[in-house]
Order: sequence, then C-alpha cells, then structure tokens
Amino acid sequence: MSVSTLAADQSVCAPLPVLGRDVTVPLVTGGEVSYAALDYAASAPALQRVWDDVAAYAPYYGSVHRGAGYLSQLSTDLFENSRRTVAEFLDCRAEDQVVFTRSTTDSLNLLAAALPTDCQVFVFETEHHASLLPWRKARVTYLDAPRTPEQAVTTLETALAGRDPHGPALVCVTGASNVTGEIWPVRELTAAAHAHGARIVLDAAQLAPHHPLSVQELDVDWVAFSGHKLYAPFGSGVLAGRADWLATAEPYLAGGGASRKVTRRTDGGLDVEWHETAARHEAGSPNVIGAYSIASACKALTEAGFDTLVARERHLIDTVRAGLAEVPEVRILSLFGDDAPRVGVISFVVEGWNSSHFAAALSAEYGIGVRDGLFCAHPLVRTLLGSDPQTQGECGAPEAAPGERSLNAIRVSFGAGT
Ligand code: PLP
Repeated sequence: MSVSTLAADQSVCAPLPVLGRDVTVPLVTGGEVSYAALDYAASAPALQRVWDDVAAYAPYYGSVHRGAGYLSQLSTDLFENSRRTVAEFLDCRAEDQVVFTRSTTDSLNLLAAALPTDCQVFVFETEHHASLLPWRKARVTYLDAPRTPEQAVTTLETALAGRDPHGPALVCVTGASNVTGEIWPVRELTAAAHAHGARIVLDAAQLAPHHPLSVQELDVDWVAFSGHKLYAPFGSGVLAGRADWLATAEPYLAGGGASRKVTRRTDGGLDVEWHETAARHEAGSPNVIGAYSIASACKALTEAGFDTLVARERHLIDTVRAGLAEVPEVRILSLFGDDAPRVGVISFVVEGWNSSHFAAALSAEYGIGVRDGLFCAHPLVRTLLGSDPQTQGECGAPEAAPGERSLNAIRVSFGAGT
C-alpha cells in the first residue's frame, strides 16, 4: 500500500479541498516528491474554503465590540454570527454559552478555573495531557485505563459511587483518542456521570473533525475543540456548554470586554461588574479571524455531509490498517481492540525499529509527514507499549536494543482532506 494510492483513492467520495496538496518536498535520495500530510491529529491542513472565506473578509477586518465604524460593526456581526454557527454545528441547547478560546487546552483550562469550590474531578489516565492536567488544583481521581468501552463505564460508575454525593463533580472524557483513534462511549459515560450527580466535559479535539457532534443528543455539559484540528488554523478554539458555572466564575482573563462596569470606590478601591455572558471569559480584543475560520469550517463540513465524510474515512482507515497488517513487524496500538469504532488516527510500533528514526525516514525518504513520540498522552502510550514509566520515551528516544520494547510510537492520522 502506498500513501499516494491512498491519497488518490476516491472510490468513496472526493477529499475536501485543502491547502498543501501541491506542496513538493525534497528527499534525501535526491529529487522531490508530493508531500503526504498524515499528521492531521496534530494539525490538519486548512480547508480551501476556510482560506477563501478568511481572504474575502480580510479587507473588511476591524475591531470587534470596540468601534462605531462600519468595519467594526461588520467584524462584530461576523464574530457573533460565528458563535451562532458553532452553536448550530454542536447542536447546543438554547441556553448554552459558546466561548471562543485559543484551543482545546485553553478551553479545558478555562473550565478548570471555573470549577465550583470543592469540585471533585474524575478523569481517565488515558487522556491527552490537555484533558488530564488542567484539574490538578481540584480534588482529582485518576481512573485506570479500561480495556473495553463497557469497562470504561463500570470504572467510572464505581468511582462515582464512592464520591461525596453532596459536592459538585466533573468528569472529563475524550471523544476520540489522539493515540488509538478509538471512539469512547460518551453517551454511556454521560449517563453514568449524570446518574451520580456529576457533570461531564467532552474533549472533542479529535472527534469534532471526523464525526457529527450533538451536545443535546450526547447530553454532555460542555464540549471543547480546536480550530487547527478542524481545518481552521487561525489560533482559535471553543468551549461550549452550560452557562451557570461559567457565568459565576472569576473571569478567565481580567480586562476590557469582560467587564460591564468599573467604578472607583470612595475608599480608593475598584468595583467591577463582570458580564455573565461568554464575554466574561473573552477579555481583550477577540480573535475574529480565528472565530470566523472555525465557523467557516463548521459550515463546510456540514455542507459536505458527515455521512459521506465518515464513509470515506472508514475506507481510508480500513486501507491503512490492512496495509499495516501485511507487515509482520508492525503492532498497532489499541485499548479496545480491532472492532472498536474509530477515527483516522492509527499509532503503531515496528519491531526492530526506533519509532523516531522510522518517522524521520518516512519524511526524508518518502515525503510522508507523521508523528512519533508519546503524543502528549504519556500514561496511555506507556500502558500500550508496556514500557517502564521511568524510561525516557519522547521524540528522540534512544534506540531500543534488539528484543527490547519500543519506547515510543509512530502515528499516522488523516481526515476529510486526505
Ligand atoms: N485533546 C486531544 C484529544 C488532542 O488530541 C489534543 C491535541 O493533540 C488536545 C486535546 C489539545 O489540543 P490543542 O493543542 O489544540 O490545545
């Protein structure tokens, strides 16, 4: 199986037009080759449509919420309409807030900063560091890696059953793993969380670009995702969901836009009234191009139709997995097994190869861009590799001696533009 065959395979539906298709890169062996971007899970290429929409708006760029001029008004409308488009894309409840952030990491840190006092947090050790680490100032319970989706639900139920039933609680779970591509049983985990009086936030960084997402259907309380993984690489992300915790929390950033009224007190201090809308957590001049580009990507994916996109991606996943299965030295990393529903993210090790060297060779000799390392999910990858947690294993890991386990892995990832 060659990547060019894969990229050219349009038997299901054509890939969505993305930038970078015409990029050629030099090979160490001499000559040039068309670049094969297979690192969508890190950052997807920009959709042509997103680029065109941003370029068409660029001459009209103006300050948001801060000007009486025509271009400021237009930019403000564009920003607020983008919020509505994202709410539609996520099928939010009418009362939900959509906050524009910098990224999924930023969104989850914002929610972590907005937790009510004494909130307990439950999170699987398998999470990306963006959803594993922000809760460390709260009371966190780390849950062991489950080996089936059902075990994920029972593990969560057991942990929640032992919690203080009176205080607030939050479960954080990833919709699709950035390591295995496996889709987690979000609806069932949400039901378990709610049955025990806990709320749930969905890290949809890897799910949103590949699957339709309905906040109402999944019944999650919040969802977070990043523009740059959704073909909109202009520095924005989203946190959407319940308004109450957000509307009463300290503003994530203090500054203009978040404050409704600021007055000097007679004792010399300051009184500040903060907004209770999304603006409370969006202080400073907003990234209108980032927000608009996300809205443009949401529209493009919706118009292309997720049924078609999912079918095409299914075909790509099967092709890549079948190709890898032909190589006896390859071991695909998986928590839930071959039959788990998954998105286009596949990590593997090649026996006898150092993963970093393998990934470097794919780039230098074939023009194929993949990722190697522990993918910001150290506990999960170490569990999957069965490696010693004390051993160094990020990019540039020392070569595993013959017969030793790999210390890191290789990841190929793709999507609607592949
Ligand atoms: N969550 C998951 C599952 C991810 O894969 C990533 C990035 O790879 C993140 C969160 C963090 O996204 P960002 O780097 O855009 O904040």
